[in-house]
This record gives sequence, structure tokens and C-alpha cells, in this order.
Amino acid sequence: MTTDTLACIGLGANLGNPQAALRAALDDIARLPGSVLLATSPIYRTAPVDATGPDYLNAVALLRTALTPHALLAALQRIEHAHGRERSHRNAPRTLDLDLLLYGDERIESPALTLPHPRLHQRAFVLRPLADVMPAGVIPGLGPIADWLPRVADQRIERLDS
Ligand code: ADP
Ligand code: MG
Repeated sequence: MTTDTLACIGLGANLGNPQAALRAALDDIARLPGSVLLATSPIYRTAPVDATGPDYLNAVALLRTALTPHALLAALQRIEHAHGRERSHRNAPRTLDLDLLLYGDERIESPALTLPHPRLHQRAFVLRPLADVMPAGVIPGLGPIADWLPRVADQRIERLDS
């Protein structure tokens, strides 16, 4: 029996060298204890949502992990800080933003952690790469990822040539 869980992590960056930040973060995620990086989406260039500043680069990582959701979030926050994120206000431009999008089929509402991530179904920059790594994935409480994609078709997103 295994207690490992599939988790999806959303990555975003729009300051400095965003592509380097995403690649470094993916390296760090691949080295998380008790975890195996199963897949990464392509990188996308996206317009800021509810925010100003340069375009974002976004991607999603699919992980199998033995970490608890809160331990995983804490590890992601350590990676953010290691990459020099300054948290001035919500939606502020950032060198690196790591969000825990999905953790198995868990639904959590604690002060520090909401799962599924509360805004993931409204954002093309999350849904598109999420569908790449989990084409048949389901958002607990909300239904198939593929059903939500058409509803964000007005948001600008383009796949980066790599
Ligand atoms: P956003 O990612 O919405 O732009 P921030 O990254 O600044 O905003 O917000 C981080 C805060 O959100 C942290 O205090 C964290 O505890 C909380 N949070 C709640 N749920 C999640 C989640 N699923 N993933 C990441 N952070 C979360
Ligand atoms: Mg965040």
C-alpha cells in the first residue's frame, strides 16, 4: 500500500528572468523529500490577471508525494523565498509564485491553506497547463478541468517556444 498522493503545483513568475526562475523552481520541486516529479507542462506566457506589470510565465508540475498538504505548502514557500520573492501585497509582481493547486481529492479550508486552490478554475494560466499534465483531471467539488477551460477562453495565453 502507498500513502502517496498526486499533487499539482502552479508556478508563476514575471520579474527578473522568469524562465530561469521557473526552471530553478522545477529543479527544487524535483528534489522535495518523499516526492517524485512526474510531469511538467510547457511554459506559457500570460497576461497579468487582476494585476499590473509585465506578462507572466506560468507552468504546472505534477508530483507524487508523501508530504502532507501543509508540509508541501511550507516546502513551496521555502522555495519561493530562496528565489527572492518579496511579498509586498497580494497579486504584486513576483520573481516566483508557487501555489498548491490540487492535492489528491482533498478539500481543505484552513487559515493557511485552501484546497483546491480557490481561484484555479477562473484562470487560464492555471487551467491550460493543468490540463496538459492531467488531461482527465477533476477539480474536487467543481468537476473536470476540461469543462472549465472554455470559460476562460477570453484570457490571453500563448505557449512559449522552448
Ligand atoms: P496568490 O498566489 O493568490 O497571488 P499569494 O501567493 O501572495 O497569493 O498568497 C499566499 C497565501 O495564500 C499564503 O499565505 C498561503 O498560506 C495562502 N494559501 C491558501 N491556500 C493556498 C494554496 N492552495 N496554495 C498556495 N497558497 C495558499
Ligand atoms: Mg501564491
